[in-house]
Amino acid sequence: MDRAADYSKGAAYVGGQYVPTGQAAVPITDWGFLRSDATYDVVTVWEGAFFRLDAHLERFFASCQRFRLNPGLDAQGVTEVLAQCVRLSGLRASYVEMICTRGQPPWGSRDPRQAVNQFMAFAVPYVWIANADQRERGLRVKVSSVQRIPPSSVDPTAKNYHWNDLTMGLLEALDADFDTVLLTDALGNVVEGPGFNVFAIQGGVLTTPREGVLEGITRRTAIEIAQAAGHSVRLAPLPREALLNADEAFLTSSGGGLLPVTQVDGQPIGDGAPGAITRRMIDTYWAWHRDPRYSLPVQY
Ligand code: PLP
Repeated sequence: MDRAADYSKGAAYVGGQYVPTGQAAVPITDWGFLRSDATYDVVTVWEGAFFRLDAHLERFFASCQRFRLNPGLDAQGVTEVLAQCVRLSGLRASYVEMICTRGQPPWGSRDPRQAVNQFMAFAVPYVWIANADQRERGLRVKVSSVQRIPPSSVDPTAKNYHWNDLTMGLLEALDADFDTVLLTDALGNVVEGPGFNVFAIQGGVLTTPREGVLEGITRRTAIEIAQAAGHSVRLAPLPREALLNADEAFLTSSGGGLLPVTQVDGQPIGDGAPGAITRRMIDTYWAWHRDPRYSLPVQY
């Protein structure tokens, strides 16, 4: 670690060293880069405290196991690296990513079992997947013609970098002047988008897809908030029509929490403004960041 270095734009841990994020580099032959052969997780720091770090660590280790990757550190070791990245950056609101890549097998070998897996991490300023204006008026979402990679090909519950479907869908939506995109499964049910899950609310009942999605930690938080407020939550397929006919809809992501959706494919959701249940849940989401059950202060 170079204490004189400028970590103000973020700090990274790579190859066993702490460096400013702008200087962090992955070897070009790492299969994480060449083949998207990696897993990752993103936890946030808000007002100087990690939010639900235990849940993110649990999911990270489950994803590693699913893809037969070994980060070489236990939960305590990963926590120390993440905290050190945040501490070096000095950031009070941060987007903190932990990554395990396949690494590379000995040169000439194509046997992934021979690769030495690599752990890396970084902390950068908090990332919002919707800007302030979009969060205020609600997002205008396109349901994509691109189908999400089937779960039988890549397990979506293990967080991964197989994002080409999400990126192509996003490009299609942005070109058509939407804010973002939702992809569908082989049956045409809406599943998830680039970095977020989706909820529809009809008659006070919330529905979010059960299958074909990353089980987002923000999705889990939204389910718990809804249930604490006395709402029923259904984990069930979400046809495009059900989303279009919803009273309210929102997206969930560590990059911004609960984000209201007010238009889908050009049609207003409800009265076209962020819904009352959604707005109340957003307030609770941020209030929970100060709840010691979910927050772990960073020692700066
Ligand atoms: N779905 C996908 C494909 C994601 O990449 C993400 C997060 O990056 C999510 C959903 C939301 O998960 P979380 O709430 O844990 O951030």
